[in-house]
Amino acid sequence: MAWRMLRRKELHTSLLNLAFRADRGGKKHFSNGAIGNLAQFYRSDRTKHAASCMPSSHFTIIRNFHAGVYMLAWSRKKEDVVGLKAPKKEKRVKKENRTQPPVEAPYVAPKLKIATKSPDKTVEIFDGMTLLDLSKRTGAYISTLQGILADLGEKVESEFDSINIDLAELVAMELGVNTRRMHTGEGTNEPRPAVVTVMGHVDHGKTSLLDALRQTSVAAKEAGGITQHIGAFVVEMPSGASITFLDTPGHAAFSAMRARGAAVTDIVVLVVAADDGVMPQTLEAMSHAKAANVPVVVAINKCDKSGADPERVRIQLGSEGLLLEDMGGDVQVVEISAVAKSGLDKLEEALLLQAEMMDLKARIDGPAQAFVVEARLDRGRGPLATAIVKSGTLVSGQHIVVGAEWGRIRSLRDTAGKITESAKPAMPVEIEGLRGLPMAGDDVVVVDSEERARMLSQGRKKKQEKDRLRKIDEGMADELEIKEEAPERVEMPIIVKGDVQGSVQAVTDALRSLNSAQVFVNVVHVGVGPISQHDIDLAQACGAYIVGFNIRTPPIAITQAAARANIKVLLHKVIYHLLEEMGRAIVDKAPGTAETQVSGEAEVLNIFELKGRSKSKGPDIKIAGCRITDGHFSKSGTMRLLRSGDVVFEGPCSSLKRERQDAETIEKGNDCGLVIQDCDDFQVGDVIQCLEQVIRKPKFISTQSGSVRIEC
Ligand code: GDP
Repeated sequence: MAWRMLRRKELHTSLLNLAFRADRGGKKHFSNGAIGNLAQFYRSDRTKHAASCMPSSHFTIIRNFHAGVYMLAWSRKKEDVVGLKAPKKEKRVKKENRTQPPVEAPYVAPKLKIATKSPDKTVEIFDGMTLLDLSKRTGAYISTLQGILADLGEKVESEFDSINIDLAELVAMELGVNTRRMHTGEGTNEPRPAVVTVMGHVDHGKTSLLDALRQTSVAAKEAGGITQHIGAFVVEMPSGASITFLDTPGHAAFSAMRARGAAVTDIVVLVVAADDGVMPQTLEAMSHAKAANVPVVVAINKCDKSGADPERVRIQLGSEGLLLEDMGGDVQVVEISAVAKSGLDKLEEALLLQAEMMDLKARIDGPAQAFVVEARLDRGRGPLATAIVKSGTLVSGQHIVVGAEWGRIRSLRDTAGKITESAKPAMPVEIEGLRGLPMAGDDVVVVDSEERARMLSQGRKKKQEKDRLRKIDEGMADELEIKEEAPERVEMPIIVKGDVQGSVQAVTDALRSLNSAQVFVNVVHVGVGPISQHDIDLAQACGAYIVGFNIRTPPIAITQAAARANIKVLLHKVIYHLLEEMGRAIVDKAPGTAETQVSGEAEVLNIFELKGRSKSKGPDIKIAGCRITDGHFSKSGTMRLLRSGDVVFEGPCSSLKRERQDAETIEKGNDCGLVIQDCDDFQVGDVIQCLEQVIRKPKFISTQSGSVRIEC
């Protein structure tokens, strides 16, 4: 089906080219017969009617445009033309695109996008901006802005009058424009602690490291090692310096916050287990940090283990492009053990040094700008949000808007759970007093009054709803497009069995990294222990592969049952080997994408004509006597006739002969006689290409460090 669609598209392209050339006076490319057919077509009633409804200038253009299509239909399937089936409506193509006829690439009509009113426009707003500033940024007339402000109960007469940042946001939201708040840099900028996020592969010890670091804090020691888990904590050094750690390890939290504009993290600690080395999520963490332009400090963990090989980890990281200090770069590496609590002081020192190099400073005075890192609902205390102050000072009792929620700060608590009056930059605090539950990544803005807070919150909710509906609309449009163009996605169900929970999780995560646009890796069941009859039954029911990691070979009865049910069982002890085998299976299963390839090229050396044939044998035909100069020619291929690099005709091969014998394929270096259906416009020196449809499968790609992926 796809092949047929493609052929139709390609055919259409060449016909468009042909028509276009004719339009420009290139009539010589039409044979007399074709022009006759064309004339006959224009004599048909339907066309006459169409022509009579059109001004003559339009008619000329359209006549040439359709000529090729009808010509072909006429000579191929006359009954279609007699009935003049309405041709399928093709997408419009910009005419200038066709001045250069495509030679290699098949014709793809441009997509018609749903026009939206610049929904993703984001403008910067700041306190004290004039109406003129806002008008320039949003592109709206001053009078429109004045109208919206009047509706909000504010009267601004002159375009040079300044407005408050909250009003500017309300007006922009009313216009459907996103805003980014620019906060004043006025006031004293003072050094502030660094905010650190811990990332790395699953089971490499992120949680253990955070636990260990939490306990090194002076405050924790004072409190007997007990600190509240509020989404972030502060480690205070004996020197008085401190580091703020976000308590949510992993990449999802980091990228979710970044996606929402909450760039809170200053430094990423990349945890790599010394006994396991660089794994897919290590690389993912590296890319996240790189994309966010956040420096990395490497913590090689589990150095207490007998199989630890920190040197190997260094080499792997170096080969992945991380410029380590030992290799002349500036990325610090520290060897630690989260369980044995060794090297933690060195890690903290490294983080302080990194922070010093970054010269982290923030405005201390004035209204706070903060970001939510975690939010939860407490039965007794209501919605609670942990926020990290970016600049300014957050003070208890202030009215705030958090994302689309609002409230008045009833109390602020620090990480030790102690009530505090205010929070300064890089300080995590738990805010109590919100009316609703915000989301991680939401911004916290301080407003003047309850009324302003309420209005801003309402405006944001309205805008969120509008955006949500727009996304649904776009999603539906995208879905339609995907259905039309994307290759079909098949499912690869997998059952994972492993020796321990940790390895099952690691294998599952690694297998999911093999997900691609063509094959969806669906882990339907995971379990610890040997492969059982239950696993076989499940695999049979859903056509799944069974993947066993570090487990013993199943008993003969199970192996036989699997073989009888035609179930593939993969047993491995090295995760990379397992991924390699699964990767190959996934590539096999992928439907692939149909592509047109030039399989051969030939030069026209001679032209022969078969004239005066009987009616039963059909009209005169022209044979191109060619020599194949490259690749091979197949009778099943599509032939593309090129003259001085331009496509002159494209159509199926109706005869391919070598030494008067019909041939299916002819290789390079041989002479052949070739007839292209409906084409009698050969010239000596023309080039003919043979086009074949091939299915291109995705590629399994693995790097030296063991990271793998499927590239479609
Ligand atoms: P996460 O998935 O990255 O958060 O990893 P966890 O912190 O949950 O650790 C996974 C496993 O590794 C746990 O069983 C930890 O006890 C163990 N682990 C973590 N750090 C160390 C370490 O420094 N040495 C040893 N021997 N085991 C560790």
